[in-house]
Amino acid sequence: MIPISSVDVPAEAEELVLEVLRSGMLASGPKVAQLEQLAAEMTGAKHALAVNNGTTALVVALEALQLQPGDEVITTPFTFVATLNAILEAGATARFADIDERDFNVDPAALEALVGERTKVLMPVHIYGQPADMTRIAPLAERRGLTLVEDSAQAHGAGIGDKNVGSWGIGCFSLYGTKNVTTGEGGLVTTNDDAVADRISLLRNQGMRARYQYEVPGHNYRLTDLQAAVGIPQLQRLDAINAKRNANAAFLSEGLAGIEGLVTPTIAEGRRHVWHQYTVRITPDASLGRDAFVDAMIEAGVGAGVYYPKAVYDYDCYRDHPRVIAYPAPTAERIAAQVVSLPVHPKLSQNDLEVIVATVRKVLNA
Ligand SMILES: *Cc1c(COP(=O)(O)O)cnc(C)c1O
Repeated sequence: MIPISSVDVPAEAEELVLEVLRSGMLASGPKVAQLEQLAAEMTGAKHALAVNNGTTALVVALEALQLQPGDEVITTPFTFVATLNAILEAGATARFADIDERDFNVDPAALEALVGERTKVLMPVHIYGQPADMTRIAPLAERRGLTLVEDSAQAHGAGIGDKNVGSWGIGCFSLYGTKNVTTGEGGLVTTNDDAVADRISLLRNQGMRARYQYEVPGHNYRLTDLQAAVGIPQLQRLDAINAKRNANAAFLSEGLAGIEGLVTPTIAEGRRHVWHQYTVRITPDASLGRDAFVDAMIEAGVGAGVYYPKAVYDYDCYRDHPRVIAYPAPTAERIAAQVVSLPVHPKLSQNDLEVIVATVRKVLNA
């Protein structure tokens, strides 16, 4: 079986983990500080703060903005549920702008059309590792006086031109077990804003400025040195890891070109994609339906997965939620019925890549 994702932790991590174990200091300390330094370098942002997962990264980013009841965050409906859960956890109201089928990301024109009096935050998600169209979204936020929170959970090191995700607004990264950089569980928040960084550093640590000096009701969202030790060598080698993902994606797109009913992913002009997922679309012209295609791939020994099967608002627990405002997003709903992700991770061999291409062609009679 060729797995859809695979953990790729450099061997140096073992030494670093042992160092932490032998130090007798397992909680947050120098390894977390080093991970934060590397995260600041990865994004070009002035501050990076480690937290215990990507969802809490989004929650503290929103809480740092001191939103009031009724304040709205506009995001994409084509995302993992954590994006929406974080908005609700922070007490805000969620709205959804439809996506562009070419990059699967929120459509800047749809975003702009939804901005209203209650809007406080625009929250694009750099889905699958391709930056959202920040060259249009950042000026929109600026013009309308809105804060940008970038859900960068899937996009470590991605960017547009020489600017990286997590440096336009408040960047929120996940270090979960399947993400491009992983500590098992973990997260990072990046920002250029000193006041936001200060507030996040309080919020993640019980609202404490110094021991027993509480300034704000906070949380325990701290990361540990044990986890940071696992992440450090991955961030140090991120360029090589991303280059391998990029080469794998290029091989797949070349091999899968010209198949009836299969649309390979595109990279928008100027954007640097880091291929958290390599996602094709199986359209109604294909010889097989999307779900049957996924089953046949897995049956043939090639991992395949659907990220995500529905628009995120389209579940009973959100449909009647008073702080979820969802008008149909027809592109997101149509695309959610077509997407399939194939393995693209850096551990794939040349033979694996050839097997993936051959298996797709066989399954689709192409
Ligand atoms: C993984 C992910 C998150 C949440 O990160 P966790 O570390 O799992 O809490 C948020 N948004 C997106 C788009 C994700 O893929």
